[in-house]
Order: sequence, then structure tokens, then C-alpha cells
Amino acid sequence: MTRPRTLAVHSGREDLPELGVHALPIDLSSTYPVRDLDAAGRSIAAMGQGGRPVEGEMIYARLHNPTVARFEKSLAAMEGMEEAVAFGSGMAAVSGALMAAAQKGREIVAVRPLYGGSDHLMASGMLGLDIKWVQPDGIADAIGPETSMVFLETPSNPTLDLVDLDDVVRQAGSVPVLVDNTFATPILQKPHRHGVKLVLHSGTKFLGGHGDVVAGVVACDEEWAERLRKVRVATGGIIHPLAAYLLHRGMPTLPLRVEAAQANAIEIAARLVAHPMAKKVRHPSLPGQDPKGILGRQMSGPGSLLAFDVEGGYEVASRVMKEVHHITPAVSLGSVDTLIQHPAALTHACVAPEAREACGISATLLRLSAGIEDVEDIWEELDTALRSAHAFVMSHTR
Ligand SMILES: *Cc1c(COP(=O)(O)O)cnc(C)c1O
Repeated sequence: MTRPRTLAVHSGREDLPELGVHALPIDLSSTYPVRDLDAAGRSIAAMGQGGRPVEGEMIYARLHNPTVARFEKSLAAMEGMEEAVAFGSGMAAVSGALMAAAQKGREIVAVRPLYGGSDHLMASGMLGLDIKWVQPDGIADAIGPETSMVFLETPSNPTLDLVDLDDVVRQAGSVPVLVDNTFATPILQKPHRHGVKLVLHSGTKFLGGHGDVVAGVVACDEEWAERLRKVRVATGGIIHPLAAYLLHRGMPTLPLRVEAAQANAIEIAARLVAHPMAKKVRHPSLPGQDPKGILGRQMSGPGSLLAFDVEGGYEVASRVMKEVHHITPAVSLGSVDTLIQHPAALTHACVAPEAREACGISATLLRLSAGIEDVEDIWEELDTALRSAHAFVMSHTR
């Protein structure tokens, strides 16, 4: 039983029959009764180093939580990897991974564009790391003796560029590669199959899927899991068990949600290409947007995020965000409902303007995360919003 849809339904639930329950239990304990002080001592020492608790001695919720551990098992299975370590947000997962890498070397080679928050964290110097920003073909040249990680995202946010992971891993050699797989989800892309060591998700997006969870997770091997758990224990970036429960609760429908949203995005992207008020539509399904042949080889589908420039300038783009009703004008993505946002003003506002311009994040760019509504309803609303926004701006500038 290892096919993705089956794994999505059953993974991480192996101990439920033994517990005598059918649905996932939630353990909200902040502390646990110590049964045997010697065993508890060994347990605390092990967990402080990123290891597992000694049977029956969980000690304290910052060290271990069984509800969280079940979700981690499920996500690891979905990625086809040994382990996963969950955090309180995607950014806590990013900082946890960077801190874990920093113990081996203080230089990170990072490929732009990245999620605005990841870019900001690295560029801020807050973690005391040296970041070398490169293009995907410049990774090998940038790697030096202090490089402890190559960090990238594909598809990239918000420009939907696709990066060839086989090529990245080859260039990185012995340096571990971390891929932020938030946009693709394990349903459309399993970076580990291409030799990627660490696969990160903002659980807030597709994994949560219903706009009600903030979380992050990194799938990896046992060695990296220990490093990550050690950082998590020390820094406290834990995920709340209710959030882990919700992520695990949503896992069975992840394949269905991703496939339904993707089908909608393919249709919307195709229609936008022909729309008079849209230009430079970005979606990997469109002709010419997958020059390296990533679809089919690395990704099983183009996903449900798309971006496009609006005709008529910033004012029109800004007005579109006011003209939508069921489509929510909001950051975030991967929810069952359709969201639209303006990257330059919102998600990527903290990215240096030159860096933004260089990767095409213009003042007229909008990003749409297709939901699973009826595509005709999404389209009607988007089409109307684009036309009304254009008409509104024209009537106010004359
Ligand atoms: C949202 C996002 C993050 C950050 O996750 P949070 O849960 O908001 O902290 C990181 N990477 C990508 C690609 C994202 O979309």
C-alpha cells in the first residue's frame, strides 16, 4: 500500500489499531508524568541531542509530542523520505534548517527568487550566515569550503520558474540541497527522487489546505532529523499539536485538492492568455514555459499557482484586488478557495527592489492561487474583475 492516494489516507496512523481508536487522537499535554527517574534522565538527554524519547518518558511538550510525530511520519511517507520534523510555521522550518546547516559551515548558496520571507531572513543577516545569491546555473561556481547548504525553491514564488533538480544536485556535489517544495507538494514533485537531502514545506499552504493552520515541516534522513530536532528543542520553534492534527487530518484529501485546483489553474491560465487585460501569463502548463522539460520528468503536473501582468499599470492591478468577491484578495496559497495577491506590494515587499525587478516581480504582477471551486465561477469573477478594474481606472484618470 504505497501508492500516493493510499499513503495520504493511511500514513502516520499505524499505531491507531493498537490504541483502539479509528480517528487521530490529539494529545495536548504540556508536561508528562515521569514514571521512572533514571529512564526520564536518559530520555531528556537523548531528546536534547535531537534523539527520540525513551519509551514512556515524553517529559515535556517542547521535546516530543505524539500527535506531531504521527503527522511527521505521514509527511515523510508522502515525500518518500525517512523522517520529517515539523515546526510552528514555514519560516520556523526555514530558520531551523538554516541553523542546523550553520553548525557545519556558515555559508549558504541560495537561488533567487525565493519566498519573500526566506529572502528577507537570509538577506537580513539575522542568523549570522553568509549568503551567496546565484542563478541555478551558477551553483557549482559559488560553492566553497564553508558552504553547508544549497537552498532553492521550484516552482519559484511568484514567477513560477522551474529549476532542474538533477542539475542542481549534480552541481552541489557533496553539499546538501534543500528544496522548498511548498508550491509543488509531494503530490506533484518528490525532490528526494532527484537526490535532494532536505524537502521543506510551509504547512500553512497546501498541506493545511483550508486556510486555518500555520505550520512548517522539513522531510529528510535520520541524521538531518536529529540536527533539526536538536535545533527545535533548543529554540522552541515547535508546532502546536492541534496544528499538527489539522495537517494530518487534511492529508487524505491532499491529492484530490491538488489535482482539482491544478485542473482549474490550467484552464484559467489558458483563458488568461487570450484575455485583453492580461499579459505575460506565467504557468508551467503554457507553451514555452517549461524549456528544460521538467513536467513529466520532475513534476507530474504544473500546479495551481499562476501569475500574470495586468494591462494598464499598478492602479488597475490594485483595483482588481477590490473587484473580487468570492476570490479572496489575500496572501497565502494552496487553500480550497481561490486567492489573489500583489507580490510586489505584499509577499515580496521586503525583497530589495532591484532583486524584485530582476526576477520579474513588477508593479502590475498579480499571483493567483486557484482553489477547487467550479472553474466557470472563478473565471467569470476574474474576467469581470479585470474588466471593471480597467474601466474604473480609465474613468478616473480621464
Ligand atoms: C508561505 C511560504 C513560506 C513561509 O511559510 P509560513 O508558514 O508563512 O511561515 C515559505 N516558503 C514558501 C514557498 C511559502 O509559500
